[in-house]
This record gives sequence, C-alpha cells and structure tokens, in this order.
Amino acid sequence: MKIMVSTFIILLLFSLLVSSCQFFSKKTYYQYPLEELTPVQFPNDYFKKVPIEIYKSNSDNIPILMYHSIDDPVNWIDTQTFRKHLELLFEAGFSTIKLQDYLKNNYESVPEGRKPIILTFDDQWGSQFYYEDTKGTKISKNCVVGILEDFAKLHPSFGKNAIFYLFFHRLPFLKSEEDHILWKKKLIYLVNAGFEIGSHTYDHSKMTNMKPNKILEELDFFYSKLLPILGKQTTCIMTLAYPGGEIPKNSTMIKNYQFHGVPLLAALKASGGFAKVPVKKNINMFELPRLEGSTENIRWIIQQHTFTVHKKIVPISKIFTYSKNSILQWLQTNYIQKDFFFRELY
Ligand SMILES: [Zn+2]
Repeated sequence: MKIMVSTFIILLLFSLLVSSCQFFSKKTYYQYPLEELTPVQFPNDYFKKVPIEIYKSNSDNIPILMYHSIDDPVNWIDTQTFRKHLELLFEAGFSTIKLQDYLKNNYESVPEGRKPIILTFDDQWGSQFYYEDTKGTKISKNCVVGILEDFAKLHPSFGKNAIFYLFFHRLPFLKSEEDHILWKKKLIYLVNAGFEIGSHTYDHSKMTNMKPNKILEELDFFYSKLLPILGKQTTCIMTLAYPGGEIPKNSTMIKNYQFHGVPLLAALKASGGFAKVPVKKNINMFELPRLEGSTENIRWIIQQHTFTVHKKIVPISKIFTYSKNSILQWLQTNYIQKDFFFRELY
C-alpha cells in the first residue's frame, strides 16, 4: 500500500512537472502580444528607388567641334558659313551638350533620338561675343553667342551649349574700344546664360616643353584672374584646351592640378577625330580629340555613325547604387541587355 501511494505521488508530481513545463514553455513562447514586438528596422534607404538612366550603346563616337573666329573667311570661316553649319548639324539630328555633362556621361539634356555634339570656341575672338551698343545691353545677332541664342529659340531641341576657351595676355572678346570695359560683363553673362568657359592657359604659350612649375603658374594665374569676376563659379570651369593643341611632354602637373581643391577634369587637343563616349572606354580625359569646325568636316561628320541618345530610366533600390560596380551587376542580373551604359551618379 505504501509503495502504491508513493508511486502515485511520484506520478502525480511528474505529470505536474510535465504540464507546468508545457505551461511555462507556451507562456515563454507567447510571452509578448504581437503588438508589443518591435518591428525589424530596415535602413530608411532600403526600399527607396533611385532612377538610373541607361543608354543604348549604338556608337562610341561623339564629335567635339573646334571653332575660332567666325568673321575671318581667309583663316577660318564667315558668319554665314557658321549659320549653315548649325543648320546642317540640326537637320542631321545633332543637339549641343555641355562639356561638363559629356564628362559625366549625362545626356539628360539631349532629346530622345538625337545625337550629342560639343561646340568649343578658342582664343576669344571678338566675333564670338560683342554687343550692338556701347553700353553692352544688346548682344549682336552676328556673333557666336547671338547666333546660338537665336538658333536655339528657333530650334529648342538643338540646345544652347558652347564652351569658350580663354586666355589673358589680351583681354577676352575685343571688338571695339568699349570691350576693354565690357569683357567682365561678358564673362558673367556667359556663365549665367548656361554657356561654359574653360582655360586656354594664362598667356597661350605652347606647353610641349613646359616645366611643371610653369604649367602650375599658367593655370594658377588663369584661375586667379577669373576668381574676382566669377567667384565660386570659377571652380565650375575646370577644363583646359592646350594652346595650339600641344600636349606637354610632362603632363603630371596637368593631371594633378587643382584650384581651391577642385581638380582639373579634362584637357582638349586641337585634332584627333571623334571623342568617345566616356566612362565605358576608360578614355584619357586629358587628351580629348577635337575636329576643326570646317564645312568639309561638318559634311563628313553628318555622314558618320555617331552616338544617338536612346535612354531608359531604370529604378534600382538604393542599396544597390553605392558603387559603379554594384549598379552594373544589378543591371546585368536584372536587365539582360548587354549593349547599354549608364550615367555616373557620383
Ligand atoms: Zn588657341
């Protein structure tokens, strides 16, 4: 009897233990009501989509035209010829873009199906920018700036972009006596109107055998001259056109040059054919080729296969956009289309 009672008590205790364990284990598992659970904290950016522009790689060629004076038909071209060039280019599907956009692979300003082209003007000839009046209130309809502005009004899809490469051993854009005073106003106008300015060095010396210290001086003097006129905008004009197209044998200083901590981004030659779509080909930005703006070249250019903008906006989770490689990986995985490239975000 005693044994039976003991056995019963042991069994009772055991069953109580088991049920209490289940009770406790259940209670532990459902300890907190769902509403009290802290939701998982994803980074704010996790689901944010970043629009990435991708472009079809239909050609690597992008023309960079080099003009000088447009009222000197003996050495260069006349005004009518320049107008004709714009018409030929427009009709052939070209649209002007800023050099700084080209350097970033940014073709946002170019309408779908049109072809980017960059217009550059060297040596600050008077015919590039002059006023009809002595006070500088009316831009001449016959200078480069006036012609480009009128043309863009008539044909908005052509854009109104050009870069003027300046030096300072004579003042920029001298056409009349008044220009000795008006030149600063012109530079401010250009920058505010969306045109670009670039360095053609301080005194237009050939750079072939130039020592690094002299290169530094040429660039520092150039940018220091502009700083009191353009202020902060001076650091937005960090490109160079080599005088006479001559590349220095020692170009280390060019590649490492900075003004107020802002690096020089690119340097242009005076010949060399088509420039290439940047980034994709890892091209040398300090030896960008240009084509002389002659009628013969224009006729040749419009017959060539050059890069045409066909863009698509692809939304990518921000988490995959922190590097060029991760964007490329994402596009290659999710966008099975090999012949594209994308605009750099950074
Ligand atoms: Zn020059």
